[in-house]
Amino acid sequence: MPVNKKAYGQFIADLGSHHVTLVAVSKTKSVEEIKELYDLGQKDFGENYVQELVEKQSQLPKDIRWHFIGHLQSNKVKRISTFIYLIQSVDSLKLLQEINKQAEKNNRVIDCLLQMHIAQEETKFGLDERELFELLNNIGGFANVRICGLMGMASFTDDMDKVRNEFRYLKNTFDKYAELPIANCPLTILSMGMSSDYSIATEEGSNMVRIGSLIFGVRN
Ligand SMILES: *Cc1c(COP(=O)(O)O)cnc(C)c1O
Repeated sequence: MPVNKKAYGQFIADLGSHHVTLVAVSKTKSVEEIKELYDLGQKDFGENYVQELVEKQSQLPKDIRWHFIGHLQSNKVKRISTFIYLIQSVDSLKLLQEINKQAEKNNRVIDCLLQMHIAQEETKFGLDERELFELLNNIGGFANVRICGLMGMASFTDDMDKVRNEFRYLKNTFDKYAELPIANCPLTILSMGMSSDYSIATEEGSNMVRIGSLIFGVRN
């Protein structure tokens, strides 16, 4: 399926004027489709499977900024640690330890977001506020990771008031922790919003959206 260039152009104009970063979610899409969007100027792409990401990364231009947005197992961090730009889905201290270790081996600092559980569904990964607090209090020793912000996914529902409340909760949490001097770098990125709810997310203060199907077409 060809990339929806018109939708893409509108996103860039809309989101850019509000200082919102667009991460194009390219999971299940081919390297040709990704290249097509890249040629329009898109540099930030999101993937959520390690194997798929590694294969695509090896075939595509090296200045692409790859975001990892899916659930990440500690034993797979190594495979993406040489090139990953931002890991958005950190949800445990164990995972963060491994990212720090692999980053150190590669002589780099890896930027991360902590993923918060804001939806009602039990299947969505992420931290609650107590776990977030604990994690932020335990990262002092990590020299090779930087916690740059928070990420969250709202409930999959037609109830847009509910979605809005979940985003509002995440934004409030973000504001609260952004002010505390406990993180090892300023919390500046708030990643929330996908194809179905990005406009609510940006109204509620998101500054990074992860959009797949509206640009690339629906996935199988
Ligand atoms: C797939 C995915 C997206 C994009 O979903 P669309 O509905 O296609 O925009 C965003 N964030 C995460 C974490 C995803 O897994």
